[in-house]
Amino acid sequence: MARTRTRTRELYERAKQVFPFGVNSNFRYWGDDTNIFVRGEKGYVFDADENRYIDYRLAFGPVILGHGYPAVVRRVAEAIQDGCMYAATHPLEISVGERVKRLTGMDKVRFATSGTEATMHALRIARAYTGREVVIKFEGDYHGFHDYLLFTTALASRSSLGSRRSPINVPAGSGIPRALHDLVINLPYNDFEALERTVKAKWGNLAAIIVEPIMGNNASVMPVEGWLEHIRRLCTEYGIVMIIDEVKTGFRIARGGAQEYFGVRGDLATYAKSIANGFPLAAIAGTEEVMSVVGPGSVAHGGTYVGNIPGTAAAEVTLELLEKEDILGSIARRGQQLMAGLDRILTDAGLPHFIQGPPQMFGFVLGTDTPPRDYRDCLNTNLALYEHIIMELIERGAIAEPDCREPWFLCYEHSEADIDETLNLYADAVKAVKGAHG
Ligand code: PLP
Repeated sequence: MARTRTRTRELYERAKQVFPFGVNSNFRYWGDDTNIFVRGEKGYVFDADENRYIDYRLAFGPVILGHGYPAVVRRVAEAIQDGCMYAATHPLEISVGERVKRLTGMDKVRFATSGTEATMHALRIARAYTGREVVIKFEGDYHGFHDYLLFTTALASRSSLGSRRSPINVPAGSGIPRALHDLVINLPYNDFEALERTVKAKWGNLAAIIVEPIMGNNASVMPVEGWLEHIRRLCTEYGIVMIIDEVKTGFRIARGGAQEYFGVRGDLATYAKSIANGFPLAAIAGTEEVMSVVGPGSVAHGGTYVGNIPGTAAAEVTLELLEKEDILGSIARRGQQLMAGLDRILTDAGLPHFIQGPPQMFGFVLGTDTPPRDYRDCLNTNLALYEHIIMELIERGAIAEPDCREPWFLCYEHSEADIDETLNLYADAVKAVKGAHG
């Protein structure tokens, strides 16, 4: 049953001569199992040895339609015949901007190129708008690779977090300036009391509360009832900017993202990933009032690649399809089928588990059937068992992230047959792991 990985290993040896750890993102390093994919098609990826995997990573979420989705590829190929960027506004930017406004319900939009850039700019806007500097984020939430928020992401170990009452900011590695520690407060997600206490004590310095509306970097832990509304209320009451980081949820869990799904509105929201089916485009959107601070001589925003033609051309088609057709509903139905099947398999195997999140990006934990409420809860689940089963699944031909903190993503081109096949493979993987443990 073992898959051949000869060519993958050869290429990986070469990659190690060029890139630290042989990869261009630390998240892609899987030790000896580091992947080299050569192409994607619909809901599949193919490695350098032509092994096919049903893909539930979808590049960490952006591929909402499918790999190499023909309508998107055609539109991008057409658009780039005339060049990729001009350091001037292009009509495509305007039409995509209009669509983003319509779908998200936000008043104003500025583009960026990645989710990292979008959250970085959102922070600057919030600081400029409020004249304050400190930001609250939540343990286990991830907002990109810039230094400002790279504390207590899903890389922080349980023993480093400190007490719930006074959490420690854990930098995601060396090189993050000490001075930035003082500008970030990490709190447990879904903890109403800790948030209220902190806001009441520190509001005079608080520029923003940034939140992942579903913990898309922590097993899709859901906001408990009233949590997002609680943040909203405190932000309104104390003049703090609420930034909803929709980089994973935007244009995926609903056309209008988490704001539509939960009926809660941020002052700013950040988007990337599904906006362009994998092409580089991101957006910061917000209310007229908060976004009005952006401008020459006022608040800096820009970038050579901002509003680039491949990204905006891809977004135009992707958003048009999402708007006109019930694509997200169709993905949700497949996702429900997958969630129900996984639930059945784990129940039959007598493995305690809890599955959560919207079917377009759900997650689950093993070793407990209690719903995890925050990052600390997720770290108390059986991460090793989860990983072991996923590694067996990958060996059989379907791929999800071996770390339960990363959700399973679905795309429009995942078929019913793909889901059935995945469930058979997952059942076999569970059997193999249970067998190995006697
Ligand atoms: N915000 C969230 C919620 C994310 O999940 C991510 C990436 O996974 C980012 C921001 C950063 O986006 P990017 O990788 O495009 O820089």
